[in-house]
Amino acid sequence: MTERLYWEDPYATAFEATVVEVLEVGGNPAVVLDRTLFYPTAGGQPHDTGTLGGARVVRVLEAEKHGDTLIHVLDRPLAAGARVEGAIDWPRRYRHMQRHTAQHILSQAFLRAGRGNTLAVNLKNPVFTVDLDLPPDPKTIEEAEALANWAVYANLPVRTFFLEEAQVPLYPLRRMPQVRGRIRVVEIGDWDLAPCGGTHLRSSAEAGPIKVLGFERWKKGGTRVYATAGWEALEDYAQKHAALKNLAQKFASRPLEVPDRVAKLEDELYRARGARMEAERALAGWLQEALVREQGRRIAAQVPAPALEELARGLQARPGTAFLLVAPTPPTARFVLFGAPEVWPRLQALGARGGGRDRIQGVLPLAQIEEALQTFRDPGVDS
Ligand SMILES: [Zn+2]
Repeated sequence: MTERLYWEDPYATAFEATVVEVLEVGGNPAVVLDRTLFYPTAGGQPHDTGTLGGARVVRVLEAEKHGDTLIHVLDRPLAAGARVEGAIDWPRRYRHMQRHTAQHILSQAFLRAGRGNTLAVNLKNPVFTVDLDLPPDPKTIEEAEALANWAVYANLPVRTFFLEEAQVPLYPLRRMPQVRGRIRVVEIGDWDLAPCGGTHLRSSAEAGPIKVLGFERWKKGGTRVYATAGWEALEDYAQKHAALKNLAQKFASRPLEVPDRVAKLEDELYRARGARMEAERALAGWLQEALVREQGRRIAAQVPAPALEELARGLQARPGTAFLLVAPTPPTARFVLFGAPEVWPRLQALGARGGGRDRIQGVLPLAQIEEALQTFRDPGVDS
């Protein structure tokens, strides 16, 4: 059994211990210590990393058969019986403590705002999730977020203590414990009381700010809430602020005016697309008249890409017309061949790729445009 020093003082970063067992986990060296500050992957909270007697701790886990034994997976072996100094990666752990404490505060806020029970949490990433048994409702979520931040600014002391299983009914726990026997309880002032084996802050104030980033339907009738807290919330704010400020500079506007500017742009884009389609249709119409006048019923021409489709459709509709239209669209050229299937093998010989039955379309090399048109004009002559 490993003594969990992080329960006594979650703010301690260095400790001394003895290697009591040496083993191997997935091909990596690993050790069991008599005592440790390294938190394992448990209860939704990720494990700590750090150093142990000159080795790096890459993973920490609870032993499968004996949950009370913690295994430290290392990048190099340590000797059994060795006395070692350990240090945890504090910035990483502090973030976990902020996430975890914020999740407790938020879970209680959902209980108060909408009688929402927390069924599952995931604290692996800076954006953590809380899964609730209530349907998605923006008002409840907004209210819960405000309540949670009130609890932060109330600067509530966080305390942990142990209960015997028989005492559980005497305490207004937010949820029932998932372990048996001696149960560890985390109390956040008069705000929240929940069974938990994780590491937490000493005051609710250190968890702020708490920001809900989004939510979605989860399972049947439930909601998954995405949130971030503490340093990670500040980083999220900084990134989004920088992005919005950058956009605002492009629009020569203030950050909060950007949505309005984007709406105007969308409107302009919509109208510009309409105008372009009209222009393309007109261009195709003029080109069709000109090509028929100049070349009759057998037409080979290089045309502007925007007019290709409309022009091909127009010419196809004229009975007895055969044509090859080619439009440069670097790095290749697009073509439509209609009414002259005998030309297709010769186009393929020029590097054309594509297919179709009455109407063959595809791409051919830019450099072969002239040759392709010539081939269509003189199908009998082998070039
Ligand atoms: Zn917890």
